[in-house]
Amino acid sequence: MKKISLLLFSVLLLFTNCLSDRKTTESTNSTNEIEAMEDSSEKESTVTEINTTESEVTINPISHGTLVLEYKNIVFYIDPVGGAEAFENQKKATLILVTDIHADHLNNETLEAISNDNSKIIVPIAVKEKLTETLKKKASVVSNFQSIDLEIGDTKINIEAIPMYNLREEALKFHTKDRGNGYVLTLGDERVYISGDTEDIPEMRKLKDIDIAFVCMNLPYTMTVESAASAVLDFKPKQVYPYHYRGTKGLSDVGKFKDIVNDANPEIKVIQLDWYPNRDSK
Ligand code: ZN
Repeated sequence: MKKISLLLFSVLLLFTNCLSDRKTTESTNSTNEIEAMEDSSEKESTVTEINTTESEVTINPISHGTLVLEYKNIVFYIDPVGGAEAFENQKKATLILVTDIHADHLNNETLEAISNDNSKIIVPIAVKEKLTETLKKKASVVSNFQSIDLEIGDTKINIEAIPMYNLREEALKFHTKDRGNGYVLTLGDERVYISGDTEDIPEMRKLKDIDIAFVCMNLPYTMTVESAASAVLDFKPKQVYPYHYRGTKGLSDVGKFKDIVNDANPEIKVIQLDWYPNRDSK
């Protein structure tokens, strides 16, 4: 039985290697997040769905607030942390976006490891100030409400910085207004919103024509699932992916988030990916 399992595992591994054309070595999960220091090992029984829509955007959740998006020839790394090993199954980064200064979003060692001389790193000024000298040379600052047009190969895109900040009195210290960037990426006909660490701010509620939204929901750092659902019901993305939902008391109730959203608006597709894979489990 063991031999069969081993064989099956080997075949799977071979298949994975063929797909990614890279070595698949088990990576250690990033544990350098200042948030969720008291991370519980519990895992909610959430359903993992595969994005089967006709989107041209491919989504690869890495962990917590870290993700990789692919659109045509462009590979976006959003808030890459966790070292190079967290990205060893991903294509090389074309564009790197960092939302904020905290360690679960900004990690100089990871940025050094995954970037090269051609890499472009999009950051708010507060993040640029914390980059190493080498990384600063690759950084372009975009501030809240500013946007930049980029042409990479034949592909034209736009990146707009959206505010991200706390509203609750007791949480104001976590994310001060004007420091971090959420982002809206315009990729062909599709618009992708990445919230960063924020509450249900008016700037989020007013977003228009969002196809894919990544919305944070963890306590005490960002917001409740109720606040996240309320904001999502206002800006009505076609698809919403809860992300960044591990707080000091474990994972937020993303099932409840989905229920609130879909009870009020069944048209919004809530898609649950596995943002907290227990990589140590066998
Ligand atoms: Zn965070």
